[in-house]
Formats: sequence, structure tokens, C-alpha cells
Amino acid sequence: MTDRYAVIGNPIEQSKSPLIHTAFAQVSGQDIEYTKLLAPLGGFAEVVDAFRTSGGRGMNVTAPFKLDAFAYATDLAPSAQMAGAVNAMKFEGGKVYAENFDGVGLVRDLLHNLACPLKGRRVLILGAGGATRGALLPLLAEEPAELMIVNRTLAKAETLATLAQKHQTASVPVQGLGYAALQGQAFDVVLNATSSSLTAELPPLPASVFAPGCLAYDLTYGKGLTPFLKLASESGVTRLADGVGMLAEQAAEAFAWWRGVRPDTTSVIQLLTIPLR
Ligand code: NDP
Repeated sequence: MTDRYAVIGNPIEQSKSPLIHTAFAQVSGQDIEYTKLLAPLGGFAEVVDAFRTSGGRGMNVTAPFKLDAFAYATDLAPSAQMAGAVNAMKFEGGKVYAENFDGVGLVRDLLHNLACPLKGRRVLILGAGGATRGALLPLLAEEPAELMIVNRTLAKAETLATLAQKHQTASVPVQGLGYAALQGQAFDVVLNATSSSLTAELPPLPASVFAPGCLAYDLTYGKGLTPFLKLASESGVTRLADGVGMLAEQAAEAFAWWRGVRPDTTSVIQLLTIPLR
């Protein structure tokens, strides 16, 4: 019998998850059906209940329901607890197992697809929302020389830095600061985890943050050369990436969790990549 999975969100039409998981199922010979589910705001639990009752095996969760899924789960993995949000669920009996694969997807993309090791390097992450929160522990586990979190709303950056210091297993220096602190600083890896690229805006960062040989990575995907990547390019950065690899890698983690087989992501990344130049 075909096992059923879905992605839930609002809006959901834009989601690439059905395309990605259907491609994964084909390359790994798995018999699954993967659909999109639109839930009304405030109606997350009812839609998930109905999907489970009809035999659904698991779900990906996208905006704005990652916190609803956190509340809905019966068993939260450490990644979901740390992120404070859930992006994948597995249904077994009365249990709802919950994970957050965004952070591990980002780090896997950096290390394996972009050949960008983090150990001993200076890493800057812009933004202090859900994506940054989920990425903190996977980033710190790679033991960079330092991790600086910079955000427009300073208090959020400070809170995340404190959280990261408390939970990391390594002893990487972590600071949470405002944009003014970036004057005179340069980093080997600069990650834009703000949502500024969705509205074609540029966070107020000086061009000098990009050290020679730097990788500039925008977690937003499918927007081509965003203002952040354009600034990096104009500052002489040649290694530019967007979040399409992160999207594919977090999906592959969920697929492996559900099906016990990790698909190769190369063809999906090629399929979804929109050239940056
Ligand atoms: P949140 O809404 O949780 O956080 C948004 C963050 O962006 C906040 O820190 C906010 O600052 C900051 N911000 C928004 N606009 C600006 C601006 N113009 N200048 C400076 N800072 C700004 O979003 P998420 O963390 O969930 O997502 C962030 C981005 O990452 C999104 O673009 C999303 O698409 C992408 N993403 C990509 C994934 C992938 O698989 N590739 C997975 C998850 C997310 P403040 O706190 O001051 O408001």
C-alpha cells in the first residue's frame, strides 16, 4: 500500500516539498504519495487530525505552523526543542514524533555541497528568527572559531547567544550584537538568515564584513542575486550561494527519518536552482 505524506502551511501553493519528495521517492524506489495541505489559520490541529485518521504517515510543516506543530507533538527531538519549532512530524500509533531539520540541512549544504568547512573559521549569522535559532547548535557542533549573531532587534540576538552558550557541547565564543558592532569586523562565512531578501531589502551591514575567500550564503532561495548577495559580489566575494541546497538537505533528512533511506540530493538541487548571476 502506498504510504502518504504531506506538507502543511498557509499559503502552501508555492511549496516545493511535493516535487522534492516525489523525486526522492523515484531515485530511492520508495512507494509514497506526497501532497500539499492548506490549513486555515487557527485550524492546524483539525487538519492534521484528519490526515492522521485517514492513514497519513508523516508531514513537513511550513509557515506559519511550526509553533503549532511544536505544541501538537507528543515527542520532541532535541533539535525541535532547541529550535522551539517543528518542521517534520512522524505519526506512529498515538505518537507524534517531531523534528527540526533546518539547521542540520544548512550545515550539510555548507559542508558537503559547498565544500565549506566551518572548523576554526569566523562565522557571522544575520537575523535572530526561527531559522537562526534552529541553525545554532548544528553550526556550533562544527567548532567554528567564533559565531556572531547580529540582529536588528538586539534583544533577540542576545537571547539566542545566551541560549547557544548554554546548550552547545563545544566551547565556541558566541556573541549576540546589533549591526553597529560589525564595523571593522570580517568573517569567513556570512549567512543571511534574515527574511530581508523576501522583500528585496538589504540588512544594514558594511561591505567590509566579507573576508578574502569568504562564502556569502543567503538562506532565502529562488530569488536570484538578492541585495545581500549583490553586496557580497560587489565587495569581491566569488563564493555565493542561496538556500536551495539547505531546502533539499532538510527534506532529505526528513525522508531518511521516515523511510530509512537517504536519497541523493544532487538532481533535486540542480532542478530547483535558479542561477544567481
Ligand atoms: P523569522 O520571521 O523568524 O525571522 C526574520 C528575521 O529577519 C528577524 O531576525 C528579523 O529581524 C529579520 N529581518 C527581517 N527583515 C529585515 C530587514 N529588512 N533587515 C534586517 N533584518 C530583517 O524568519 P525565519 O528565521 O523563519 O526565516 C528567515 C529566512 O530564512 C526567510 O527568508 C526564510 O525563507 C529562510 N529560510 C530558508 C530555509 C531553507 O530551507 N532554505 C528554511 C527556513 C528559513 P527582527 O527580529 O529585528 O524583526
